[in-house]
Amino acid sequence: MILKEMKPKRGNLFIISAPSGAGKTTLAKAVLQQFRDMLYSISYTTRKPRAEEQDGVDYHFVSKQDFKKGIKKSRWAEWAEVYGNYYGTSAEFIEKSLSSGCDILLDIDVQGTLQILKCYPDCVTIFILPPSMTALRKRLEMRGSDSKAVIERRLVNARTEMAQKKMYRHIIVNEKLSEAIEELSAIFKKYRQ
Ligand code: 5GP
Repeated sequence: MILKEMKPKRGNLFIISAPSGAGKTTLAKAVLQQFRDMLYSISYTTRKPRAEEQDGVDYHFVSKQDFKKGIKKSRWAEWAEVYGNYYGTSAEFIEKSLSSGCDILLDIDVQGTLQILKCYPDCVTIFILPPSMTALRKRLEMRGSDSKAVIERRLVNARTEMAQKKMYRHIIVNEKLSEAIEELSAIFKKYRQ
């Protein structure tokens, strides 16, 4: 009898995007608690850490010089410049995780999603919408981490991103966090069966 080498089933690749302030990170963290075997892709960024952020947990914080070296060496599966800083996803992390059968979650913007879709057309894309532009402005102001000018820039960018929501397979309106958690969790369950 010839025993065929069993290859693990490839993992699912999930992407969530949202304008900043839509509550995406809180939502993702809450849902990941329910799916302990799902891996979160920690992005690389040249942005400075916020007060509560930890290197290697929230992001890998790197210099612009190192990030640009990464571009030359094709280290990023996708990358984008957002508000004057670079953000990117490790190509090695995605490929290693998927080929070993792990499901992964990417929290990236619309530009990044377009790049990932080219290489991974089967990825499951989810867009998180704030209940309204007024609610989004309020959340950004309450967060207290950005200047007025940065908030205005984020709101302009939010409109541009929200105009592209149709390219996503699923849309969740984050009005009530508990309901948004349930919706996101139901999407994960559907594809993970
Ligand atoms: P923030 O600076 O508020 O953490 O993130 C700003 C924006 O960058 C968010 O829309 C976030 O989704 C996006 N972002 C974070 N990591 C990545 C990444 O690796 N690639 C891309 N394309 N966008 C990212």
